[in-house]
Amino acid sequence: ESLSMNQSRIQELAELDKKYFLHPTTAPKTHAEEGPKIMFSEGKGIFVNDMNGDSYIDGVSMLWNVNLGHGQLELAETAKEQMSKLAYSSSFIGYSNEPAVRLAEKLVSLAPGDLNSVFYTSGGSEANDTAFKLARFYWELKGKPQKRKFIALEDAYHGVTIAAQTATSIPNFHTFSNSGISDVFHAKPHLTNCELGDKSDPNYEGCIRDIIEKEGADTIAGIIMEPIQGSGGVHIPPDGYLQAVRELCDELGILFIADEVITGFGRTGLMFGVENWDVVPDLLCFAKGVTSGYAQLGGVLIRQHIRDTIVQYEGVLSHGFTYSGHATACAVALKNIEIIERDNIVVNAKMMEQELKKGFEYLKSKHPMVTKTRAIGLLSAIELYENSDTNKPFDISVKATAQVGEECFKRKLMIRPIRVGEGKNIIAIAPPLVINKQEIEQMISIIDESITAFEKILT
Ligand code: PLP
Repeated sequence: ESLSMNQSRIQELAELDKKYFLHPTTAPKTHAEEGPKIMFSEGKGIFVNDMNGDSYIDGVSMLWNVNLGHGQLELAETAKEQMSKLAYSSSFIGYSNEPAVRLAEKLVSLAPGDLNSVFYTSGGSEANDTAFKLARFYWELKGKPQKRKFIALEDAYHGVTIAAQTATSIPNFHTFSNSGISDVFHAKPHLTNCELGDKSDPNYEGCIRDIIEKEGADTIAGIIMEPIQGSGGVHIPPDGYLQAVRELCDELGILFIADEVITGFGRTGLMFGVENWDVVPDLLCFAKGVTSGYAQLGGVLIRQHIRDTIVQYEGVLSHGFTYSGHATACAVALKNIEIIERDNIVVNAKMMEQELKKGFEYLKSKHPMVTKTRAIGLLSAIELYENSDTNKPFDISVKATAQVGEECFKRKLMIRPIRVGEGKNIIAIAPPLVINKQEIEQMISIIDESITAFEKILT
């Protein structure tokens, strides 16, 4: 295909996109005027190409999900094989298929503690909505139907279906179309002492324990949280926090729901995020990394005591999606997990954390605005401040992270600028788990140049 034919094709697609494709989490007015920011066409490992043939580093694994990187042909072969045999079958009314069963067994074998069965969904939001419904169902079966409320954390992201959206607290998502459910409360995150019962802590008001005391434990079905918050800014809880929440749930009879949609399948340097603190949640929601994005799949892992209660029920479990237990998606997930284990991908994520941290130390030493950095496995962030000595934030009008993000994009690195609340300028970095040392150095050097360019703009 000649260069000019390719150009006219890109042009044509841009026009069609503007006209017909309403994009998620995109400003519709700007998009209708300007069209797509980039039109991806192929990828290999941490790199992804656009239709012009320009190669970008995928510094956030797209939406934190392409854990094995792009162009993984074994996954493509697996999908082709399964689709050629049986692409899909229903899982309703007791129907089943081999990939869904084999994957269930595999997931249970990997999951911590007695998370011993799985309910499949097509993605993360559906997994969280499913967890909420299973929690309420469980308490109904336990003879406590008044336990219906949920507590989530500030800065949480749990997805966009109506219940998951309510649990999400990032302002734009939380308020979009004013569609929440009732009975979801947001607590201050990561206050270990408070959750352990220290009422003298000046932050006690609004912590999880305070909310439970005010609402009454007998009205609370569950607490949902990401073991490490992702979209809210990559917030790693202090040691002891998840254990304190686990203890609190045990003490007061509340289900602990871990949203591992980002943190599952090696992202944090262990197979699941909760393993960093040896905590076993009652329900564990997963999606994204389970297939590295090669097929749409999510689900909820369920602890034995909940399963035991549910299987006593003689009626129908009237919940499920057309694509629950999708044969091709499950086959791809199985292969994805097989490759993760075979190629020591989780260990690689842990080792590359050290390389990232070295890079971050360099950025900090060179650029005063790089004030805080954090990484757990390949889930990481840097925070920018106008004055790192006083933690004085940039004025909102400066759009610090957006500008640095643009500078990175110009230099062919995609990262994720995050603004949560006033004055917080966070850049998330979460490359595919197959990344190597040299590629991390390449990424850091682009960030270095991009911040330098931003510093020039400021002066
Ligand atoms: N939970 C977390 C922690 C997420 O990061 C996301 C997506 O980014 C979701 C849930 C929602 O998943 P999905 O977009 O597959 O519905």
